[in-house]
Amino acid sequence: MITIDNIHKSFGNVEVLKGVSLEVKAGEVVCLIGPSGSGKSTVLRCVNGLESYDDGEISINNRRVDSEQKDINELRTRVGMVFQRFNLFPHRSVVENVMEGPVYVKNEPRQQARQHAIELLEKVGLGDKVDAYPQSLSGGQQQRVAIARALAMRPDAILFDEPTSALDPELVGDVLKVMRDLAEEGMTMVVVTHEMSFAKEVADRVCFLYGGEIVEEGVAKTVLSAPQHERTQDFLKRVL
Ligand code: ADP
Ligand code: MG
Repeated sequence: MITIDNIHKSFGNVEVLKGVSLEVKAGEVVCLIGPSGSGKSTVLRCVNGLESYDDGEISINNRRVDSEQKDINELRTRVGMVFQRFNLFPHRSVVENVMEGPVYVKNEPRQQARQHAIELLEKVGLGDKVDAYPQSLSGGQQQRVAIARALAMRPDAILFDEPTSALDPELVGDVLKVMRDLAEEGMTMVVVTHEMSFAKEVADRVCFLYGGEIVEEGVAKTVLSAPQHERTQDFLKRVL
């Protein structure tokens, strides 16, 4: 479903992606791990068209992702993204935040978008917060609204960039549970995370990114339990 083929990306004269390749099949969950600054966010941002890349090719369902393309909004409706900071609209209620994309980007009728949004909020465990405002919610609840908002566009895949890193530890579990449920339902997901137990249990594959290159990739349990590359071993020693 997602094909990343040898992409290169520089900021000024610093090359931050040095030929990254990755294939994600429909229904697969791939975790991207690696130290800060290794290029994880940049990879996701290139896939989603938020960032351009200099060389190589990315395609989603066999259609090329080119950040200069006119139908970039169309791409973003097919690939959802959930960030570390949830960026909900503070002056809109929870349900309005979730309806926003379908109504304004996809021209869905309001009543239909609202019904779907309520179903999604129930799915992420927030059926009682439909009319609440974001600031009255915990960080974990706000992140679950952000996941519902991504799902509202009926995307083919969702990219998660450290979705639990900004949360208090006791709020992380509820967000991971929602992600685990999505994975079980067959959602295609690329997840940048430092939650190694999540990666071990939920990911089909793990890729370890270091200095803009994937230095190790494989079945999640194998890479995390018996890493082959010295860099991966060092990294895992630090985070586990
Ligand atoms: P990670 O998500 O793994 O922490 P990033 O993809 O955010 O890493 O960043 C990779 C490298 O690219 C880092 O060295 C970072 O400083 C640099 N970088 C990221 N975004 C920009 C930008 N907009 N301008 C300049 N450098 C950037
Ligand atoms: Mg990052």
